[in-house]
Amino acid sequence: MVVLSSYVQGRWVVPDVDEADAAPVRDAVTGEEIARLSTTGIDMAAALEHGRAVGGPGLRALTFHQRAALLKALASTLREHRDELYALSTRSGATRADARFDVDGGIGVLLTYASRGRRELPNDNVLLDGTLEALGRGGTFVGQHIWTPRHGVAVQINAFNFPVWGPLEKFAPAFLAGVPSLVKPASPTAYITHRLVQLIVGSGLLPAGALQLITGSAGDLLDHLTDQDLLGFTGSASTARKLRAHPAVVAAGVRFTAEADSLNCSILGPDAVPGTPEFDLYVNALTTEMTVKAGQKCTAIRRAIVPNSMLDAVGEAVSERLAKIVIGNPADPSVGMGALAGLEQREDVRRSLKALLDVSTVVFGDPDHVEVIGADADRGAFMSPILLRANGDRAEPHEVEAFGPISTLIGYEKVADAIALAIRGKGSLVGSLITHDQDVAREVVLGIAPWHGRMLVLDRADAGESTGHGSPLPTLVHGGPGRAGGGEELGGLRGVQHHMQRSAVQASPQMLTAITGRWTAGADRRVTDVHPFRKSLAELRIGDTVVAGPRTVTVADIDHFAEFTGDNFYAHTDAVAAAANPFFDGRVAHGYLVVSFAAGLFVDPAPGPVLANYGLDNLRFLTPTYPGDELTITLTAKAITPRDGDYGEVRWDADLTKQDGASVAKYDVLTMVAERWPMAAPDQTVAISSEGPK
Ligand code: NDP
Repeated sequence: MVVLSSYVQGRWVVPDVDEADAAPVRDAVTGEEIARLSTTGIDMAAALEHGRAVGGPGLRALTFHQRAALLKALASTLREHRDELYALSTRSGATRADARFDVDGGIGVLLTYASRGRRELPNDNVLLDGTLEALGRGGTFVGQHIWTPRHGVAVQINAFNFPVWGPLEKFAPAFLAGVPSLVKPASPTAYITHRLVQLIVGSGLLPAGALQLITGSAGDLLDHLTDQDLLGFTGSASTARKLRAHPAVVAAGVRFTAEADSLNCSILGPDAVPGTPEFDLYVNALTTEMTVKAGQKCTAIRRAIVPNSMLDAVGEAVSERLAKIVIGNPADPSVGMGALAGLEQREDVRRSLKALLDVSTVVFGDPDHVEVIGADADRGAFMSPILLRANGDRAEPHEVEAFGPISTLIGYEKVADAIALAIRGKGSLVGSLITHDQDVAREVVLGIAPWHGRMLVLDRADAGESTGHGSPLPTLVHGGPGRAGGGEELGGLRGVQHHMQRSAVQASPQMLTAITGRWTAGADRRVTDVHPFRKSLAELRIGDTVVAGPRTVTVADIDHFAEFTGDNFYAHTDAVAAAANPFFDGRVAHGYLVVSFAAGLFVDPAPGPVLANYGLDNLRFLTPTYPGDELTITLTAKAITPRDGDYGEVRWDADLTKQDGASVAKYDVLTMVAERWPMAAPDQTVAISSEGPK
C-alpha cells in the first residue's frame, strides 16, 4: 500500500517510514484501505523556512493583478480535472452532488478571488486603507494606513469534510495577499487533497514555495512557527483550544484563526404556517442540510427552532421528505445520501447521538439500523438521518454537535423565546430565519446577530435565488464567534487583509506618494507642455497635471442650465427663497453645472489615448458658486492601474477652486486610457457596464 508523499521545499518527499508504521486511510463505502499516511522524516522547520525564504519573496514580486491572473488560470486547470476529483471523492462517501459542492465550490473561490483581485485591488503590492489623515495645519505632515503582506507562511490545518474547498478557501486569499501556504489536510480524506495539490503543482502555474503540503500528522510543525506566520484551523473545538494555546503560537504572537464546532440554528417564523411558501422552504432547507454531505457540514442545521404549534407539522413534513432519500453507495446516481467519512467518524456521531437521545425523542430514523443500496451497511460508514425532538430547556441540544445527518426540533412560544434559544448555542457560523414578516426579521436578526457570523433570512421573495443556509460564499465572511471558534475567513477582501499587516504611515505627502505609488494631495504636481490627456499609459506619470481656467459663472449660465436640464430647484432660480436658505446668500450655480464646466476646462477634445470617462468617485461640493465666481480646475494623475490588454485605468484627483482659492468641489475622475497611442487596433471599443469596463 502506498504511503502518500508530502510536497515540501519544492519536491515530493516520501516519508521515511516502514509501511506498517504509517496510518491507514480507508474507503468510507467499502472499508478497503486506500493509502497510508506518515510525516516521519519530513523536516517541518525547513518547509516553513522554504515558504518564508522562497515562497514569500516570489509572491511579493508579483502584483495583486498578476496573482489574480494566476488564480484564474489555476481554476481553469482544476476545472479540467473535476471528474477525477469527483470520482475520488466517492471514496470519502460523497455523492456527485456532495462532490460538486466541494470541488466546484473550491474552484468558485479561486475564481471569485481572481475577479475581486483585478477589480478591487491595485496593480501593485501595497494596498491603501481608508483616506488620508491630515496631521498638521500646513498639510506637510499626513497619515495613511497601508496594508502589506506578512512575511511568514500561512499554515492551514483543514477538516476532513471538505478536502478540496477547505484548502482552496484558505489558499486563495493568502495567495492573493502575497503569502505562501502550507496545507495540512485532515487524515481521513488527505488522499483527495493530495491529488488536488498534485494537480496544482503539475500545472506549473505557481511560483516556487507558494504552496506546500503536509500529508499526515502535523508532527512538530507548530513548534517552528514565528512572528510573521499565520495559523488557520478548521476542526473540533478541542483541537482549536489546543492550537490557540500552543506555546509557539502564544510566544510568537502568531495570527490565529479558528472555525470549530457550531450548533447552527434555523428558526421558523410564527407566520410561516403550513400552506405558506415559507413553511415549505423550511422543510426543504432542513431536509437538505441534514442530508448533504451526510450532515458533515460545519454549517449544517443542528437546531431547528419552530413554534410549538408547528412542531408536529414540521416533524411530519420533514420525515416524509427524509423517508424518500435513498442511502447507499454514492457512486450510484439514485443515491441521495452517501456515507460518513469513515467508521471512526460514525462512532463519534453515535457517541454524540447517544447524549442527545438521553434528552430527546426520535421523530424520524433508526439510530441502530439503516437500509442501503449498492454497499454493505456494516463495512461502509452509513447512517440513517435522524430527526430528534427535545425540550429547549435541556442543555444537550445546544451543546452537543453530532457531526452527521442529525438535527433536533426545539419548540418556542414567543419570538423572544426563539431568540433566547438561538443564543444558547453560544456562537455559530450561521443562523437562518424563515419568515415573511418584516418585524420578526428585524427582531430576530438584531437579537441573534452578535452570536452569528452569517445570517440567512429566507422567504418567498429571495428563495428562487437563495444559495441556502449551508453554503459559505467567498464574498461573505465565514466564521463565527464563541463556540464557532471566533475566526473569520473569506468575506471578499477581508480574507486577503487577514494575511496582511495594517500600518499607519506618517510622512510628508511627497514621501507618501513615493511609498504608495499613488499621488497624495500636497505632493508635487508636474505641469508640462503636453496635456496629460495626450499621454498614453506608457507615457503618463503619477503627478502629471493640467490646470485650466478661469471660467466665470453667469446668471445666464444658471438660467440656461436650469431650463435645459429641467433642474429648477429654487436655490438656483429664486433669489429670495435661496437667500432664506441657511446655506446660501442668494442664487447658486448647480453642482452639476460647475462639474460640467470643470470637464469643459480640463478635457482635451481631439481623439487621443483617453478612451472613456467611466465615473466620478467621492464627489463633494464644498463651497457654493455664485454668479460672478471664477472657476479653475486642477486635475492630477493620482493612480495608474494597467490592465491586461490595450488599456488601463487612470484615477485623477480633481480640485475645482474659485478666485479666492476655496475649493468648490473635490472628486476623483475615472478614465480608461490606451496603453499606447495610436492603439494597435484603432476600431477597438471598450464596453462599459454598470460594473465598469470589461
Ligand atoms: P480535529 O480537530 O481532530 O482535526 C481537524 C484538523 O486538525 C485535522 O487536520 C487534524 O489532523 C488536525 N489536528 C488534530 N490535532 C492536531 C494537533 N495537535 N496539531 C495540529 N493539527 C492537529 O477534528 P476532526 O477532523 O477529527 O473532527 C472532529 C470533530 O470536529 C467533528 O466530529 C466535528 O464535531 C468537528 N468538526 C467541525 C468542523 C467545522 O468546520 N466546524 C469541520 C470538521 C469537524 P489529523 O486528521 O491528521 O489528526
